[in-house]
Amino acid sequence: MKNIKDYNLDELKEEMISIGEKGYRAEQIFKWIYVENVTDFNEMTNLSLELREKLKENYTLDIYKIIKKQESSDGTKKYLFDVLDGNAIETVLMQYKHGYSICVSSQVGCKMGCKFCASTGIAFIRSLTSGEIAEQILAVQRDTGIKISNVVFMGIGEPLDNFENVIKAIKTINNPKGLNIGARHISISTCGIVPKIYEIADMDLQCTLSISLHATTNEKRSKMMPINNKYNIEELIKACKYYIEKTNKRISFEYALAKDNNDNLDDAKALVKLLKGMLCHVNLIPINKIENGKFDTSTNENVIKFRDYLNECGIVATIRRELGDDIEAACGQLRRKEGGNI
Ligand code: SAH
Repeated sequence: MKNIKDYNLDELKEEMISIGEKGYRAEQIFKWIYVENVTDFNEMTNLSLELREKLKENYTLDIYKIIKKQESSDGTKKYLFDVLDGNAIETVLMQYKHGYSICVSSQVGCKMGCKFCASTGIAFIRSLTSGEIAEQILAVQRDTGIKISNVVFMGIGEPLDNFENVIKAIKTINNPKGLNIGARHISISTCGIVPKIYEIADMDLQCTLSISLHATTNEKRSKMMPINNKYNIEELIKACKYYIEKTNKRISFEYALAKDNNDNLDDAKALVKLLKGMLCHVNLIPINKIENGKFDTSTNENVIKFRDYLNECGIVATIRRELGDDIEAACGQLRRKEGGNI
């Protein structure tokens, strides 16, 4: 049976017509799923009993089960969801001044192998479907009763390695007849899959693009991120410049500061040289130490010096407020853990 959440509204219309129903039924169903957030076809009370039966026979609603929920002292919530095939993923809910943000996973596990990231410590199992990405938002809204206003693709997985499903999920999440989360409130973060950056640039997607840069020389970046052996810094920056020129949108560069690795003033100087003249913003993240990780977090003093130097040179840089690190829900601390034995 097919997960009904894997259809966007247009596809659902076609699907309804193909099973002999009127197209407008799709909009009603879409609203039950994404506005009313129902967990059973029986709750779709403006559909005939016959249609409800037909839906039950042909589709599933794939409601995620919460295996474990943890709450940080700062209010951040981390969910471990059972994705209904024996696997589990993590999703994080954060509260900011401007509303609620959700950090969604795009894959079960990750292939990218970044040396400082906990999501790497586990094998890649599979990519999530678009419906499974959207369900993370629905499941958290059901559990908390709140309305999510921002989505970041910064959970487990590399979103551009699951390109089609991520783009499709964005279209579903976007739809004004459903969750209605504007593209400007959605961010995709990538370790730098260069060909896909060109594709996004040509798509007029309106989302924010974040690039996990983390180093300014190929030698250093390759030691932190194996993807750099495939697409090096020069190719990555060239793609970013194309993206900016094509979309006129600011890119957000993420730079995780690790003690005695990439956090001194020479690194800051090299970063200024690399990004000079680009429409961008730098997000500095004092690296979160992971189990058995060889990178230590930078000192507060170094982080501030690094930020101030960038700002003095005309590059807007901010230090990311780390939420949820007491429950391992901060950047790079997400992993797939089975059995609720977190
Ligand atoms: N695969 C995507 C998105 C997931 S990670 C990507 O690479 O961008 C989201 C962000 O957290 C990325 O910038 C990633 O590099 C960063 N990150 C990973 N591990 C981290 C750690 N231990 N400390 C701080 N940031 C980390």
